[in-house]
Amino acid sequence: MERCPICRATLNGAETCRRCRAELGSVLRTERMAEEIRTMAMHRFMSGDPETADRLLKRSLLLHRTPEAVSLQKLLRR
Ligand SMILES: [Zn+2]
Repeated sequence: MERCPICRATLNGAETCRRCRAELGSVLRTERMAEEIRTMAMHRFMSGDPETADRLLKRSLLLHRTPEAVSLQKLLRR
């Protein structure tokens, strides 16, 4: 996350927005978790296990929908 979802101020990796003081720690943790699961999905896909990859990717998309995860899902479902 590069910008505060509430006021759009640049975050620079901070967990509290310097402008509106929004607490974004849990949101950032969720984003990181989604990214880890997406990486796991990619690895499963590379090791020839597209079913697990698809399942992991679905979970990742529920946590955080990114353009990368969406394109990966399209790739998996071809
Ligand atoms: Zn803010």
